[in-house]
Amino acid sequence: MTDKFKNFEAFLQSIDSDLKKIFEYQQEYICCKNGCSFCCEQGDYPLSKLEFEYLMEEFAKLDNKIKIQIYQNIIEIKQADEESYKCPFLINHSCSVYSHRPFVCRTFGVLTEDSKGNPAFPSCATKGLNFSQIYDEEKQHLSVELVEKNHFKIFPKIFRLNNKVIMNLPFAKELNIDFGEAKRLIDFL
Ligand code: SF4
Ligand code: SF4
Repeated sequence: MTDKFKNFEAFLQSIDSDLKKIFEYQQEYICCKNGCSFCCEQGDYPLSKLEFEYLMEEFAKLDNKIKIQIYQNIIEIKQADEESYKCPFLINHSCSVYSHRPFVCRTFGVLTEDSKGNPAFPSCATKGLNFSQIYDEEKQHLSVELVEKNHFKIFPKIFRLNNKVIMNLPFAKELNIDFGEAKRLIDFL
C-alpha cells in the first residue's frame, strides 16, 4: 500500500465489508461466479480520478503480455467510439485489476436504485443471471408475483449504491478523501 492510497484503501475496506453483507442478504437472487463476466462486457464504467489512479497502480504490476492486450483493447474501443463497450481490463473473462477495480464494479450484480428511486436491475438480469427470476422483462420492473411464486424467503431490498452516494458517505469525508473528477473509464485512458 502506498501512502497516497492509504485513506482510500481504508474506505474501500469499509465499502467491501458493507457490500459483503448486502450480497449475503440478497444471496437467494445472486449467481455470480468466477468466469461469469457479462457485467464487464457492456457498460461505460464511470469512476473518479482517484479510483482510476488506483486501478492503474495495479495495471503497472501486470505482465507485459497482458499490458499489450489491454492497450490493444483500448485502441479498439476508441476506434469503435461507442457509449457502451467491453472493459479493456477484462482478459479471458477475468478482471486483470480485480483488487483495484472501481466502486461501480464492486456493486455489479446488486439490486440498486435509479435516480427516481425505482429498482435498477443488474444488466445480467435479462441474461438469466442475478435477479432474473423476479424480473418482469415485459414491464422491465420487479415482479412481486414472481417473488411469491418462486417462494423466495426474503423480499429483495433495494440498496442506494451509485457512485455519488458512495463518494458522499460520511466516512469518506472523515478520511478527507478527494476523489477528483469523474468520467467514463475509456475517457481516462
Ligand atoms: S475493471 Fe475489472 S471488474 Fe471492472 S469492468 Fe473492468 S474487468 Fe470488470
Ligand atoms: S453480476 Fe451478473 S454477469 Fe456479473 S458475475 Fe454476477 S451474475 Fe455474472
